[in-house]
Amino acid sequence: MVVLAVHGGAGGDGPWGGMTDVDPQRLDCMRRLLNDLGGRLQRGEINALEAVTLAVEVMEDEPLFNAGRGSVLDASGSITMDASIMRGHDQAAGAVVNIKRSRHPIRVANHLLQDGWPVMLNSEAADVFGAEKKVETVDQHWLITELRQAQWAKWKANKSAPGSTDEDDRAILDHDADEQPGMGTVGAVALDIHGHVAAATSTGGMTGKPNGRIGDTPIIGAGTWADATVAVSCTGIGEAFIRTCAARSLAAYHEVMPLDTAGRKVLNEVAPYGGRGGLIAINTDGRVITPFQTMLMYRGTYVGGLVELGIGPQTYA
Ligand code: ASP
Repeated sequence: MVVLAVHGGAGGDGPWGGMTDVDPQRLDCMRRLLNDLGGRLQRGEINALEAVTLAVEVMEDEPLFNAGRGSVLDASGSITMDASIMRGHDQAAGAVVNIKRSRHPIRVANHLLQDGWPVMLNSEAADVFGAEKKVETVDQHWLITELRQAQWAKWKANKSAPGSTDEDDRAILDHDADEQPGMGTVGAVALDIHGHVAAATSTGGMTGKPNGRIGDTPIIGAGTWADATVAVSCTGIGEAFIRTCAARSLAAYHEVMPLDTAGRKVLNEVAPYGGRGGLIAINTDGRVITPFQTMLMYRGTYVGGLVELGIGPQTYA
C-alpha cells in the first residue's frame, strides 16, 4: 500500500469560520498533486523521496501557501526560506536555511541529501549550490506576492512583536475578507511500494521574523524526520518545535505506542512552550495521522487511491 500526505500549514484560534474565497484554490492544488503523485507512487514510477519533493515543489509554486513563491516577508521585507528533507531507510538528510533566490528550496535540500555531505547549507551558499545543481534561480520580485506585501505592511504598521505570525492578532489584525489566518508552511510524507518512507517541509517562516531567524522547518528532528518506520512533517510556532525536538520525539514515542497517540503526545509537549500547530505523520504499516491544535490545518491524504482533504475539523472526499 502506498500513502502520500501533505499539509499547507496550521494556524488560527477559536472555532473555524468556514472556507474563504481562496480556500478552494488551496484545496484544488492539494487534490491535483495528491491524485497525480499518489497515482505515480502507486504505479512505482516514483519513490517516497521523489514524491515528497515533487509534492512540496507544487506547493512552493502555489502563491497561497507560505513557501517558495508567496512566502511571508521577514522584518526587512525580504523573503528568506527554509526547507529540509529526509529519507527514512538510511536517514539521509538535506536542509537549507535563509535561502533567497531558489524557486524550489526543497529541491536544493534534495540535492544535498543526494550528495550525502554536508547535510545543511546556509543563505547565499545554499542558493549557489542550488544553481550549480540547475535548480531554477528567481528574484525576490517574483517570489513576493501582493498578499504577503499587504500582510507585512500591517505587521509593520501595528509595530508587532518580532516573530509575530500571520495568525497572531497583534501581527495581522484584520485578515482580508477572503483570507483566513494560517501560516501556510508546506510539508509532505510518503510511503512507497518498497515500504520506504520520506518527509519534506518548506517555509518562508513567520511574518516579520528577525533577519537571520531560523525556525524548525530546516532542522532535522524538529520540523522534519524520517527513519525506517515513520516520517513526520511539522508546522507551527517553530521555536517550540525546536525546543521539544518534536518530529524525532514522535518517532521515539511511536516505538512504544500507536502513531496517533504519539502524535497527540508531541503536540501536547509543544504547547507549553508557546507552540501551537500541527503535523502529518505516516508509518510503514500505512497508517497516516494529521493532528493539529489550531483552528485549522490545510491537509490532504492519498490512501489506497482515495483522496481526502481538510481545513477545519471536517474532511472532504
Ligand atoms: N514552523 C514554521 C517556522 O517556525 C512556521 C510554520 O509552520 O508555519 O518557521
